[in-house]
Amino acid sequence: MVKNERSYRYAFLGLIAWVSICLLIAGWAELESGQVRMLSFAGLFGLIAAVGLSESLESQSRIRFTNLMASSTTDPLTGIRNRRFLDDEIERQLAQFRRQGTTVSLLMIDVDHFKLLNDNHGHLAGDKTLRNLAKLLDSTLRDMDLITRYGGEEFVAVLPCTDLHHAQLAGERIRSAIEQSRVHFENKEIKVTISVGITEATLVDTPNSFLDRADRALYVAKKSGRNRCCILRAEDTVSQISEIHQENEPVLANFS
Ligand code: GH3
Ligand code: MG
Ligand code: MG
Repeated sequence: MVKNERSYRYAFLGLIAWVSICLLIAGWAELESGQVRMLSFAGLFGLIAAVGLSESLESQSRIRFTNLMASSTTDPLTGIRNRRFLDDEIERQLAQFRRQGTTVSLLMIDVDHFKLLNDNHGHLAGDKTLRNLAKLLDSTLRDMDLITRYGGEEFVAVLPCTDLHHAQLAGERIRSAIEQSRVHFENKEIKVTISVGITEATLVDTPNSFLDRADRALYVAKKSGRNRCCILRAEDTVSQISEIHQENEPVLANFS
């Protein structure tokens, strides 16, 4: 690719040199009118080719830049966006909230007892589970929502134009979808559950305070037995946190 581009550059410089030589000869040599015409055609041809080449060079480097940007914000294991992209998106959504009043909510999602899954079935089974989870989360949320891999076995979803009540419904929808799904790995059926921390933005939130509140809600979901969603409002203390699924029994990873 790089070698290819270098030869394009040489061709471009060669054509520019060719056009300059044509102009020099036409200007200084005593030529008959037929020769001048020939030289003008040759120069014009060189100029058109040089412009075409420069356009193609520019579009190649634009494509390379776009690919580079996409790969630096994409998680290689799951193919979804990574934390870097998430930070920018939260910043953007909070700014829009302050400008236009369109609220935004966050879901912080963590796989329950994932270490046990790795220990029992191996790292490859864990990787496949993460890939399946990412796909399922992506397909369960709306097109306008963003699902990102926050780290290890943690995911964060940004739900634009969504208040706490609707974020709660979305959180419960994904919790239930994952509870019912199965990962097939080497003739084994693996079941996982997730815990979800949910919060809605306030006008004074920074990306850090917003993420931190979702994280505290997640912490309570874990402490209350896992496989459940918990919500935390900015005005709540952690002891006032609402558990959406109090009826869920504490779930230990169920590996069949
Ligand atoms: P909890 O229910 O409290 O969240 O328990 P947990 O076991 O899920 O949490 P813990 O933080 O103890 O373990 C997370 C595990 O996730 C440990 C780490 O090896 C594993 N992990 C992190 N990234 C990857 C990955 O890319 N692939 C695989 N297979 N495992 C990963
Ligand atoms: Mg976990
Ligand atoms: Mg974790």
